[in-house]
Amino acid sequence: MPSVVQVEPLTTARALRGPFDYLRPEGVDVGSVLVVPFGHRDVVGVVTGLADGSEHDPVAPRRVLDARLPAELVDLALWMAAEYCSTPARALSLLLPPKGTRAKTALWAQPSGAVDAAERLSERQRALLASLPRFAAGDLAALRRLEGRGLVHIAPRIVRRAPLHVPVGAARAQPELTADQAAALRAIVTAAPGERLLLHGVTGSGKTEVYLQAAAAVLAAGGGVIVLVPEIALTPQIVARFVARFGDTVAVLHSKLSAGERHDEWARLRAGEARVCVGPRSAVFAPVRALGLVVVDEEHDASYKHEGDPRYDARRVAERRAAQAGAVLVAGSATPRPESVHALSRLRLPERVDGAPLPPVEIVDMRAAQRALHPLTHEALADARKAIVLLNRRGWSNFLTCRSCGHAWGCPSCDVTLVMHRADGLLACHHCGHREPVPARCDACGSVSIARHGTGTERLESELEGTVFRLDAEVADPARVLAAFEQAPRGVLVGTQMVAKGHDFPDVDLGVVLDADATLRFPDFRAEERTFALVTQLAGRAGRGAAGGRVLVQTLAPDAPSIRFAARHDADGFLAGELERRRALRYPPFSTLIRVVCSSPTPGAALAAAAAVRERLGEALGPAPLFRLRGRERAQVVVKAQDRARAVAEVGAAVQAAAADRAQRAAAFSVDVDPQ
Ligand code: ADP
Ligand code: ZN
Ligand code: ZN
Repeated sequence: MPSVVQVEPLTTARALRGPFDYLRPEGVDVGSVLVVPFGHRDVVGVVTGLADGSEHDPVAPRRVLDARLPAELVDLALWMAAEYCSTPARALSLLLPPKGTRAKTALWAQPSGAVDAAERLSERQRALLASLPRFAAGDLAALRRLEGRGLVHIAPRIVRRAPLHVPVGAARAQPELTADQAAALRAIVTAAPGERLLLHGVTGSGKTEVYLQAAAAVLAAGGGVIVLVPEIALTPQIVARFVARFGDTVAVLHSKLSAGERHDEWARLRAGEARVCVGPRSAVFAPVRALGLVVVDEEHDASYKHEGDPRYDARRVAERRAAQAGAVLVAGSATPRPESVHALSRLRLPERVDGAPLPPVEIVDMRAAQRALHPLTHEALADARKAIVLLNRRGWSNFLTCRSCGHAWGCPSCDVTLVMHRADGLLACHHCGHREPVPARCDACGSVSIARHGTGTERLESELEGTVFRLDAEVADPARVLAAFEQAPRGVLVGTQMVAKGHDFPDVDLGVVLDADATLRFPDFRAEERTFALVTQLAGRAGRGAAGGRVLVQTLAPDAPSIRFAARHDADGFLAGELERRRALRYPPFSTLIRVVCSSPTPGAALAAAAAVRERLGEALGPAPLFRLRGRERAQVVVKAQDRARAVAEVGAAVQAAAADRAQRAAAFSVDVDPQ
């Protein structure tokens, strides 16, 4: 019996390298959560290993907490820490079961079945017995007397706090699969453990139905399932369909849950009471037992990348988790990433289930246009019954300038312009949250002549006719807006990329993308891929019903390949060209990118820190200054590598060495492997 436990203390310090040895208390194993003396204080730590002895003189932990992480999740966290140049403590913190809450219990009374004494019962006692197991708090004393006579058993039971925010759908019978669906399902259920598949199907082709039936097969064989979705608030339909099909065996984990609800959902999965977990990226850490299938729906969605440290990509973690458990991974999308097309075996659903053709897409050249809406778009909107309009820019105007002196209003803490929000009377920074009142006159010259440039969703909302529903990050309850639009007989849904996510309205007969090339203007190798996905995803929302539909794409770049291929619904053409381009330029999936961002409030310190990292690396790009953010100057170094594992190790070591150098103590370091 190993007598020593190796513990990672959950501190945020990058320089600290565990694990540290402690004496092993009774019942403690890998995954146990302890409070241990560490330096001059007590900290929470997780057991990551066991040993027969120690070179040090280990002391005993202070306490053993009752939370315990399954051993395979400890492995996953340690892998994540290395894979994303983070620390075991930071990775473990993300996976830890909900702390600070316990199971909720309530007293439960049941008739014992003893009848001997039953005739000596009063009318009231008889009624009380008949009403069990329900009873009011005021009846407890009376029940205790019946318990004394052996007529009732009273015991505490765990009561489940069922999530209130789970959308409920009507149970629908399992449909007969189309030939394409059946072939995809067969490939999934016969796949070898650890196999990775890509379900590439146009919107409405029945991907979700394939996930449901694959999940049913895994459940029937005694296995468990994880289903990752981009954002629950925007994709309530898929959650509703899983709950409708599988009932209580589905646990939902997402950020809107109360601590108690999260605790209970986690515990139900851990105990094997629930065997399917549906949730956003962090659900990849759900303690599902006997994992047999991991589904990543809308696998192209950028929300799978976590922005905190470790900057993990849930899609990659899902692959790791599936491989570790011998589960099959299925990633699904109408617009899969070139990376996935390159690495996964592809299953195709080329047609919509209802046989309806994809809507025709017209490119509207805006190079000579005067206004935000082209006359053709105006006309189409007037004719449409229900339309979705995508404009990836929130607020009223993107920026203000003085007509007299040219002064532009910028954020005091970031090098970006302030966006005007007219309803709130504010200028806002979309990077740091800075706000100030809309100016009446120029700060620089006092002129009252101020120009507003550009159109955002707020302005568009006010300019469109008819019933307009707006959906963007300013909206508190997206699900409510989506439901209102769904129920309206006519109307226009206007919004940012949120309107192009996984929901499905049967009666939308027009889709419009404004400023489709906005995403192309980002200096990023994924710009083409994003633009293609946005246009294709929006096109998929239109013309699902009997009425058919059409899509208009307004753009200043009518010849951009991403827009042309999207207009032809030609995903294969786009993917082939994009993979070719990436191969030529050595971009992912033909290399790994790692970005190190250094930042500091001290002038010059960020660039100096980036130079210090660069100096410790072989081949790298930079240091290059980035725009100032939240009052901090920033600079980056980018590594483009063929050998991923080696590059991760090298960058990790370089950052650690630079961070430990006293000359760089004014700077903070952040490593992003596979930046988005
Ligand atoms: P996707 O996930 O690819 O967008 P869904 O699975 O949501 O597609 O399917 C679109 C619609 O077609 C849904 O309303 C679904 O219930 C229905 N559907 C899926 N498969 C079938 C089938 N084989 N027969 C009839 N209807 C189906
Ligand atoms: Zn001025
Ligand atoms: Zn700012």
